[in-house]
Parts: sequence; C-alpha cells; structure tokens
Amino acid sequence: MVRILDTTLREGEQTPGVCFDNHIKLAIADMLDHVGVDIIETGHPVVTAEIEHSVRQIASRGLAPLIGAHARSLRRDIDVALNCGVGFLGIFYCVSNDRLQHHQTTLPRVIEKITEMVAYARSGNPRLRIRYTPEDTVRSEWENVVEAASEAVRAGADIISVADTTGYMIPGTKRSMYDYVSRLRDDLAVRSAFPQIAVHCHNDRGLALANALDGYRAGAEIIDATVLGLGERAGLVDLATLLAVLQSDFNEGQHWNLRELPRLYDTVSRYAGMEIPPLMPLSGKNVFTHCAGIHTQAALKNPLHYQSLDPGIIGREAEIALDHMSGNAAVLFALEKIGRGGLSPEHTERVIGKVKETGRMGRVVNQDELRHIVNFITNERENPLDRQPDHRLFTFADPQG
Ligand SMILES: [Zn+2]
Repeated sequence: MVRILDTTLREGEQTPGVCFDNHIKLAIADMLDHVGVDIIETGHPVVTAEIEHSVRQIASRGLAPLIGAHARSLRRDIDVALNCGVGFLGIFYCVSNDRLQHHQTTLPRVIEKITEMVAYARSGNPRLRIRYTPEDTVRSEWENVVEAASEAVRAGADIISVADTTGYMIPGTKRSMYDYVSRLRDDLAVRSAFPQIAVHCHNDRGLALANALDGYRAGAEIIDATVLGLGERAGLVDLATLLAVLQSDFNEGQHWNLRELPRLYDTVSRYAGMEIPPLMPLSGKNVFTHCAGIHTQAALKNPLHYQSLDPGIIGREAEIALDHMSGNAAVLFALEKIGRGGLSPEHTERVIGKVKETGRMGRVVNQDELRHIVNFITNERENPLDRQPDHRLFTFADPQG
C-alpha cells in the first residue's frame, strides 16, 4: 500500500507569491485529513515564528495523518521541529561533488554531519519517522548517494527520499525513476540498509506524475504531492491526479475520500491566488465537458465512449457545452434539460443556428442563455422574476457514477 505525503503547506509555499495565513493552513490540514493522505508536511519551523506556530498547532490537532516538518542538518532546526511535537522529520543535505566543492567540504565530513543529526533527532524521539533526502538525488554521484543514504539509515533514518529536484528524469530512458529506485534499493540492501523509499518529483519537463508512477512501480512506498502541483518553478506532482490514477488504475487507497478534493482545491486556489487551469486533469472546469457534435452524440448514449475516468469519483458530473461545434443531439438534449423540449422543427433549427452563431463569437451557451435564445426565437415572454439565472452547463448522469 503506497503512502501519500502532501507538502502543499511546505513546498507549496515555495511557489512565488504564495503564503497561507495560519488559519488557512489549519483549514487545509483538516481537509487533507478528510481526503485521507498519510503524511502532511507542514513547513520548516525554524524559518519564521509564524511557521513554527502553525506546525505546532497542526501537530497538536489530533489529525489522522502523520504531521511532519522540515529541517536542515542543524541541531537548532531539529530542536525547534521536535519541540513542535511532529511525528515525522525530513532532514536534507546535498552530497553531489559539485555542491561539496562549493561548500568547501568533503563527503566524509558531510556524512558525519548527517548521521550525527539523524542520531540526534532519533534520540529526541524514539518513535519519530525520520527521512533523509540527498537534495537533487538523481543528478548527484551515485556512490555519494548510496554512501550517505546507507549511513543515514544506520544512524536511524527510516526513509530515503529520491528527490528529482529539477524535474530531470524521463521514463524509459537512462534517466528512469523506475531504474533509479530499483537500483538504489538493491545497492542499499547490499549494505544491509532497508529503508522505505520516497519519491519527490518536480514537473519541469511535465513528467512529474509519470516519474512518480515509475518510482511507484519500482516499489517506492511514499509519493510526495501538492494541491494544484504547487511548488518551486513548475511545481510538483498534482495531488488530485495522483490519487485518482492510483485509485482508479492501481487499486490503491480505496479509503481515500476523493469527493473532498474539490473543496480542498477551491480553498487552496483561492488563498494561493491561483486560478485552477481549465484543462487541469480532474480539477479543471473543462475536463469532464464534451463539446464537439460527434462526441456529445456518442457520450450521451454512453459516456465511456469519450471518457475513461469517472467524474463521479470526485463528485463531479459529465456535462455538455453548447457552442459552434454543437450538433443537433446536444442542442435537443439541452432543450429537454431546461424544460423546453418539443419545439417545432423550424424553431429547433433556428435555436441550433443561434447557438452556433454565439459559439463563433467565442462564447459557450449556458442554461440561462439557452432560455434567452428560445424566448428570442419563439418570441415568448418569461417573467424574469420566476427563476434564478442558472449559468451552469448541461450535466448528464454518468452510468459509472
Ligand atoms: Zn521540492
């Protein structure tokens, strides 16, 4: 069973311009608890007093997920994090030759530091889950990573995180996360180190989810994600897409409550000041909407003809958009939907013409506008006070849902 680590509150806040108030962080943590993620990474408490306060409050809230914090390989970072009462601590230190030179240090000295700090954290809380991350793992020298990781495990680390910090990996090539995770596990086993493996995949090449699934297929036990894929640069794996794919296609996480995701996404989007892109898988407003005439005609008979993911898993419905691409079947369906079926063939034809004309102006006809079009074509009057405007599109029941 794979575990999901959400780092919206830590990595997500590294998105330029994103800073959540502590009351919003608390609300997000509560929602993540409802969704059913396993670990919530809440921040790097030594950075500011506000973050420290937020980590402490979330850690003492009695939520089901393990509450985690970030720490550099420094006593002070670890002290502050443990003082907050977290059950999970992520310690990071880069071991690439390039960085070692830059910091004018050597691998043995760095490993001594890492193991000292892991052991220090372990002594502070015997039940703490400790993760060691060699930053930019996948571009660091292999021997350095294996050496540092195995020593960290010997000192008490439970988890080694494979960080694709720059979104460098590409499935099916020499830079495959599948191969990396498999080989790392084998080489660590040779050194009698058997940690859990986590994967932290950035999306610089748009391959974060593909790489995360590659790591998962190789046996990674923990996958990092954020709401909306927030994070440094192109961000991280998107939580909703990851959960939906794992649940629908890999039979994981049947206890996850994906129907909580729209509320979580709405909250994060609002307070991160970021619109949800309309084409974003699972969460975008367009992603369960059928448009072209041939598609809508087939989808109305059986949605599976043009969709492979059930919108019901996150509490959404398939819908039809009316615009210049719409055919007769879609317009007739939409007319029934607003209770204006049974128009004369001549009126129906003119309604279809008007819908297409409106679409050519770059607008999608919603329920409200379709009523206006019908009233215009039939020259009927409707008391505008009789109903509330309805700007939704035209939903249809999904037989899977
Ligand atoms: Zn990251």
